[in-house]
Amino acid sequence: MKIVRFLSVLLFVVVLFSTSCVQPKKSKPTITVSVLPQKYFADQIVGNKMDVMCMIPAGSNPESYDPSPNQLIKLNKSLAYMAVGNLGFELAWLNKLKQNHPELKLVDTSDSISLIIVDEHSDTKNPAMIDHNHIGPDPHTWSSPKSSRILATNIYKAVIDIDAKNKKYYTANFTKLLAEIDSTDSQITRKLKMVKNRSFLIYHPALTYLAHDYGLDQYSVEFNGKEPTPQHLKSLINVAQKEKIKVIFVQKEFDVKNAAILAKETGCRVVQIDPLNYKWAKGLTDIVDALVE
Ligand SMILES: [Zn+2]
Repeated sequence: MKIVRFLSVLLFVVVLFSTSCVQPKKSKPTITVSVLPQKYFADQIVGNKMDVMCMIPAGSNPESYDPSPNQLIKLNKSLAYMAVGNLGFELAWLNKLKQNHPELKLVDTSDSISLIIVDEHSDTKNPAMIDHNHIGPDPHTWSSPKSSRILATNIYKAVIDIDAKNKKYYTANFTKLLAEIDSTDSQITRKLKMVKNRSFLIYHPALTYLAHDYGLDQYSVEFNGKEPTPQHLKSLINVAQKEKIKVIFVQKEFDVKNAAILAKETGCRVVQIDPLNYKWAKGLTDIVDALVE
């Protein structure tokens, strides 16, 4: 009997020990962002202290993306949603997300950026060139290092608000990130210094802030957020000839058929760019390099 009791105690200890071993580690706090360049900034700041979930996966269109049921469930674990502000996806979804997760802290990471109102920035000499896709503030604030600096600062402020006890750690990471953003800024300025032809065509107008901050002219092929009308294509061909435009940028998230037609008509090179690249600095410097060539 004694031996049976001994064995059952032993078994109990073994079971206890093994279950304590497989018990999951306490999961890290999670924050959520909309697009990959924001995830890059957030990842650099939080380091190994938090997980960063990105709602819009690589290759998806941020203007029309619908989150998956799995993503909506995962939002339960998220402490904060750091929105770009004014992105098509956010305009359609953010209110619903907030209703389903009232405890979710909402952060507008474009706060304090002087937002470019699309109509104001459009070519007023030529009304046919005005792109009404983003009526109101243009959302693509991560496309310029100058506005990205503010965007990253907003993420940093929200992170130390959530987890003040690790402020020192986050501040050190943030300082490194700012140095990278500033060095990208000076690289772009240096590369563009010698570029005479400062106009470009682009399928979806995602480079408004880059164009504004570095003295470039962006002409959007998309019109009213849709495929261009024959009339709009015609006016683009005229502008391309007048301004001797050499390059037409396309993004993999958008249809490129019309870009090919335009390239043929104008002799422009079609260059695929990735303004939603997780490697934010590379995404931007690749774009600038295509203008320098
Ligand atoms: Zn867009």
